[in-house]
Amino acid sequence: MRPATQAIHAAAPERRPGAPLTPSLVAATSFHTDPDAIGFSAADLGAEAPPFYTRWGNPTVALLEQRLAALEGGEAGLAFASGMAAASGLMLHRLGAGGHLVVSDVCYAGIAEFAHDTLRRYGVGVTAVDMSDPGAVAAAMRPETRLVHVETPANPTLRLADIAALAEIAHRGGAELSVDSTMATPVATRPLELGADWVIHSLTKYACGHGDALGGAVIGRAAAIAALRQEALIHVGGAINPFAAWLILRGLETLPARMALHQHNAGEVARYLETHPRIRRVYWPGLASHPQHDLARRQMQNFSGMVSFVADGSKDLARQLARRLKVITYAVSLGKTQSLVFHIPAEDILRSSFHLEGAQAEAYRAWTGEGTFRFSVGLEDPADLIADLEQALA
Ligand SMILES: *Cc1c(COP(=O)(O)O)cnc(C)c1O
Repeated sequence: MRPATQAIHAAAPERRPGAPLTPSLVAATSFHTDPDAIGFSAADLGAEAPPFYTRWGNPTVALLEQRLAALEGGEAGLAFASGMAAASGLMLHRLGAGGHLVVSDVCYAGIAEFAHDTLRRYGVGVTAVDMSDPGAVAAAMRPETRLVHVETPANPTLRLADIAALAEIAHRGGAELSVDSTMATPVATRPLELGADWVIHSLTKYACGHGDALGGAVIGRAAAIAALRQEALIHVGGAINPFAAWLILRGLETLPARMALHQHNAGEVARYLETHPRIRRVYWPGLASHPQHDLARRQMQNFSGMVSFVADGSKDLARQLARRLKVITYAVSLGKTQSLVFHIPAEDILRSSFHLEGAQAEAYRAWTGEGTFRFSVGLEDPADLIADLEQALA
């Protein structure tokens, strides 16, 4: 099956008379159990074990996991309560005292803070590097490097990274590569097929698509996902609520269709912003002016709906946009039907989340100026979005 079909049919329950056509929401926390079928420890959980306790697994959640695995071309998936639960769970599972993480110097702020503040406290070495430069990644590898973590496109700058090149560098160094593909979605990029070991998603964003459920996922090899389930899900405990999983399954059915429209609308808006005198720079992987447009064409089958732009006097402009926009909303998050824009001041994020100094901080400022506007272009009519921007930017 191709992605648009997988999103609707992959892992669907048996077709038999009387079976419902939509996924069943199983809200139960525990299930009838055969005393001989399963032990009491997470270590006893076999691949074929029937549902037992919802933190271990749940039929509604299992359908979401299987559908995501199909979309990513992976053997197995594991759903979590949020994207942060997925990312932190994977990092806690793969890293320990004395281990070393190479992480993108620009990535989702929560993941950057978790790496710099929390993992370091547990004795993990952390090196932040520019993942658009494979040479810098190779130079950061150490004998004890266990994991290379990258985000492409990176939140909030939309800088890209070459997944196949990074997978080779990670593997040569005896490490694994995890890719946060939240902004790309499996419609644009399937990192496992490019050599990555793990794909991470915040399902809260495009996968859900409607901004009404939190969720996260990790997709990878079956044995590795089983080990991750035992430690990072069953023991750390960030299990997704089955109702959230059900909402995300519903959203996932339209993901390929929505991504086509997100891409179209983002292109219209990005091209408009490029001509606006108040806007100094626009980043969208589909624009010929994106510094890595060639990589985008090679690695992305869809350029996604995220646009970032840079303007002089950006803090004042943020206040003006928040006050004047009528269709677009000034708010955080991304990937939903409604267009959302949010301003991230460079000095704030450099200090509080990224901990970057010197040449790395300079490179960030060169890309974003005083700050970057992260614009999640929604599914409204692009003419209305452009008209709204026109009056709000005036
Ligand atoms: C939002 C986001 C996360 C965190 O996901 P939550 O579901 O909010 O916990 C991680 N990575 C990226 C790229 C994100 O945009």
